[in-house]
Amino acid sequence: THPPPRSLETEGLTKSFGGVRAVDGATVTFRHGRINALIGPNGSGKTTFFNCVTGMIRPDAGTVTYRGQQITGRPPHRIARAGIGRSFQLCRVFPRMTVLENMLVAVRPARLRDLVGGAGSPAETDKARRLLVRVGIDHLENVEAANLSYGQQKLLELAGVLMGDPDTIMLDEPAGGVNPALIGRIGTLIRELNDEGKTFLVVEHNMDMVMSLSHHVVVFDRGRPIAEGPPSAVRADPRVLEAYLGI
Ligand code: ADP
Repeated sequence: THPPPRSLETEGLTKSFGGVRAVDGATVTFRHGRINALIGPNGSGKTTFFNCVTGMIRPDAGTVTYRGQQITGRPPHRIARAGIGRSFQLCRVFPRMTVLENMLVAVRPARLRDLVGGAGSPAETDKARRLLVRVGIDHLENVEAANLSYGQQKLLELAGVLMGDPDTIMLDEPAGGVNPALIGRIGTLIRELNDEGKTFLVVEHNMDMVMSLSHHVVVFDRGRPIAEGPPSAVRADPRVLEAYLGI
């Protein structure tokens, strides 16, 4: 059987900060329809890789291709328009806006100022409410985001990402700092969305989550992949233990 089509690919992706090569010639392929995990020790370049792919940072060298289309160095809003949505390691919501306002801003950041009055088109508002039901925080629609638990803020951020109808969803540590009950809910949501056809690329330190959720795991060390495969194979790979334990 053939593997699924290529979704997101990088070729020789490189980004340095001063003398530090945060991403060092990373060549990786993530395939369509899978839950892909990106793991690796602290400082191995995962977040910088995410930032290069989503246009937050311009890579020094190399290419990023999405569904066959070159997206290297494009600004974040154009990469989002190509179909890639993302969340942030330190959850990004507007603390002084309500849950519903955050949802409406998520889809049109440029309209931030108009929305301070709470406006959104009826279709957008309907969609926002449906997604809030989906992630289980619809009862908090009029609550300021600052008053949500951290896990609830992460659910809000994920719902905001879904407002853009992405084909591929990149999550930076979805379980980080979240209580176990909500970790379970986030995992279930990822699985359901994947069943509906969404491709995932997830950076996560919670190994139980990575091993139970992902179809394909890529291990980064010093800015590039050193091993990849199904979770069971990656877990048993001596290179992976070496990278984590430094032996
Ligand atoms: P990870 O997400 O795997 O923990 P990062 O991509 O955050 O790794 O970091 C990779 C390396 O790049 C680290 O050595 C980190 O200190 C460095 N780095 C990341 N971002 C910056 C930055 N904005 N300025 C300077 N160094 C950075």
